[in-house]
Parts: sequence; structure tokens; C-alpha cells
Amino acid sequence: MSRRGQLDLVVVGAGVVGSAAALAAARDGLRVALVEAHTPPPWSADAPDLRVYAFAPDNQALLEDLGAWAPVRAARAHPYRRMRVWDAAGGGELDFNADALGRGHLGHIVEHSLLVDRLWAACGREPHLQRHCPDTLQAIEQDADGVTAVLASGQRLRAKLLLGADGAASAVRGLVDGDGLAALPADRSAGVAAGGRASQLHRLDLARRRGGTRTGAGRRRIQS
Ligand SMILES: Cc1cc2nc3c(=O)[nH]c(=O)nc-3n(C[C@H](O)[C@H](O)[C@H](O)COP(=O)(O)OP(=O)(O)OC[C@H]3O[C@@H](n4cnc5c(N)ncnc54)[C@H](O)[C@@H]3O)c2cc1C
Repeated sequence: MSRRGQLDLVVVGAGVVGSAAALAAARDGLRVALVEAHTPPPWSADAPDLRVYAFAPDNQALLEDLGAWAPVRAARAHPYRRMRVWDAAGGGELDFNADALGRGHLGHIVEHSLLVDRLWAACGREPHLQRHCPDTLQAIEQDADGVTAVLASGQRLRAKLLLGADGAASAVRGLVDGDGLAALPADRSAGVAAGGRASQLHRLDLARRRGGTRTGAGRRRIQS
């Protein structure tokens, strides 16, 4: 249990990574603060998001553990039965087929905005999780006992650990000093292109994934 007034974890950014991490930690009994700059817009069935994920069963199982899969599934998630994976730079390709694996489907196609919306809502139901939104991380102070996240609102969140999940232009990354730490291996980037518009998900059973690499960001040490 935390010391009085101190959180276990501050998560910066409530995209899919930050909200899922915050939710998992809170459901494990940790006291968590989730800081997000913008309130996620409510998902609307009438405005399909073209940014989609091809979920494998283990992704689904994770969301089930977090209590977030049922609300996603109830809204819109379409099973896919085949997946072709190829390298953007050329080379071979892989072709997965549910029939060949003796399965009904390989996974589900899920819209990004729906996932963010439902994870955000699930975070709001967690008693151990406090959401700070709209607010942004301005500074990080670290000492031997923990870390303090200083927010634009002036609020100071004291925790044992701070997790940066604030996307590609990460403020957390910008605030830390990388001296003495090795760079991460190159980032993996991948996109899933639906074989049609997301509005046609009900007709889609083929997910196509193009893989590639790009230069990654270095792992950094948080410094006061
Ligand atoms: C156009 C597009 C299409 C994509 N298509 C696919 C796809 O088909 N399949 C796939 O697997 N992936 C796809 N991706 C990649 C995928 O969306 C990202 O990998 C994923 O969204 C990353 O999630 P995240 O939570 O790390 O970051 P983000 O989604 O970027 O979330 C970061 C959050 O942090 C918040 N934030 C930022 N700075 C601060 C701050 N200082 N204080 C507080 N909050 C802050 C932001 O408001 C945001 O909500 C696509 C990405 C894009 C842009």
C-alpha cells in the first residue's frame, strides 16, 4: 500500500497504451493517476475510424482481463479470418488463414477511437484510478524516494513511478536525460490496412499488415 498521499504510479497519456497500463495497475490494487491532455471524444457508430487494429486472441484476452473487451465487442468489432503480412522494403510475405488453423477466425478488427473511448470509460470506473484531464505534464522531479509530476494546472502528483505513454512526440522523453543509457533497438512500426473502409468492416475478413522499421527513440533516464 502507498504511503499516505503518495501514488504508486503516474501514467502520462491516455492513448491505448497509457489507459490500458493505468487500468491494469489500478485493477492490481495500485493507486494510479492518469494524465491526459485531451478528453477522448466519445466514439460514434456513425463516424467509423479508419485507424484500426487487428487484434489477436491474446490482445482480446488482455482486454477481457481489464473489463474492456465486452464494451468494445458490443459496440463494433469484426472478426477477420485471413491476414497477409509483408515487409515494406520487399522480401517474402506470410499468409495466415483461419481455415488452415482450424479456427473460426484469427481475431478482431477494432477501431482506434472505440478502443480509446472504452478504455477511458473503464478507467473512470476504477476506484484506485484518478484521471487528470484536460491537463498536461510540464516537468518531472525525481529524488531517491520517488518522482513528482508537475502538471500545467499546477497540480503536483507524487508517485513511486512515472510511466510515459504520451505518444510519438513524448514530453516525458523530452524531459529526461539520456546520458549513460543505451539506446533502444530500432522501433518497430506496423500498420494494418483494412481491405476496405472501416464503414465496411462487416464485409471484411482479410487484414493486411505491412511491417517495417524506423529509427527508434533512445531509452532515457529521468532526472530532476
Ligand atoms: C494515421 C495512423 C494510423 C495508424 N494505423 C495503425 C494500424 O492500422 N494498426 C496499428 O496497430 N497501429 C496503427 N497506428 C499506430 C497506433 O495508432 C499507435 O501505435 C498507438 O496509437 C500508440 O498509442 P499510444 O497510447 O502509445 O500513443 P497515442 O495514441 O499517441 O496517445 C498518446 C496520448 O498522450 C497524450 N499526451 C501527449 N502529450 C501529453 C502530455 N504532455 N501530457 C498529457 N497527455 C499527453 C495525447 O493527448 C494522447 O492521448 C496508426 C497511427 C496513426 C497516426
